[in-house]
Amino acid sequence: MSAENITPAAKTEYHGGTLEGRELHLSFGHNHVLRGIDIRVQSGTATSVIGPSGSGKSTLLRVLNRLNEPDSGDILLDGKSVLQDDPNLLRQRIGMVFQQFNLFPHKTVLDNVSLALRKIRKLPKEQAREEALNQLDLVGLKHRADARPGNLSGGQQQRVAIARALAMKPEVMFFDEATSALDPELVKGILALMADLAKAGMTMVVVTHEMGFSRSVSDQVLFMDAGVVVETGSPEQIFSSPRTERLKGFLSDVL
Ligand code: ADP
Ligand code: MG
Repeated sequence: MSAENITPAAKTEYHGGTLEGRELHLSFGHNHVLRGIDIRVQSGTATSVIGPSGSGKSTLLRVLNRLNEPDSGDILLDGKSVLQDDPNLLRQRIGMVFQQFNLFPHKTVLDNVSLALRKIRKLPKEQAREEALNQLDLVGLKHRADARPGNLSGGQQQRVAIARALAMKPEVMFFDEATSALDPELVKGILALMADLAKAGMTMVVVTHEMGFSRSVSDQVLFMDAGVVVETGSPEQIFSSPRTERLKGFLSDVL
């Protein structure tokens, strides 16, 4: 069995927060991309967001962590609006994993994970190193701490990106098509790691094309199309009893 296929045991317990977006709107110029999105992700649960390309899924994640400010609506973490706070505070409370891993190519794996620990969490060097090694251990990559990202497989690089996000002790984790850039044989390992995090109590919002994952791991599924949530429900409801023609059409295209 290759290292890619090892499912790291969920070695820790997470205490994820409850995240809500209410009536969120965002336009880019004349393009009204989010048209009144409501989303509620209960503490310790996973929500997957599915829908066609261009429907606003990535934009929704970016608005929920205030990389883009909504034109209107509210964002609440554990019942408290966060829009009056410094946006950086929210970004520290929400970990984000992208399709492209966005690692620093010239830094070691260890430095990639420990950098924010030192700069943002202000940990002293030794403590940051120890914490980074712990996080790398959790994703099965402690033995590659001194490697450069370019010498790792895509799956390993994505594990480093996940370790880096987890090192910040986020209350919520976002995944935006985290497996879309991976070779097919590496996808399973990353999905298994994400499933472990979900089981361990992390609050997660997962934008994904992996319908199997959406169906088997999420507690709730949101189907977006053209900037609105067309249907939301349990995986069973969404995949077995779609109510709208739009969702039926989408599922028949992707399944
Ligand atoms: P999805 O992730 O579902 O594929 P996106 O959220 O990436 O969809 O995009 C939704 C719409 O918003 C698209 O029409 C896209 O062109 C537009 N969009 C996204 N980001 C920007 C941006 N920074 N500036 C202008 N338009 C954008
Ligand atoms: Mg996207």
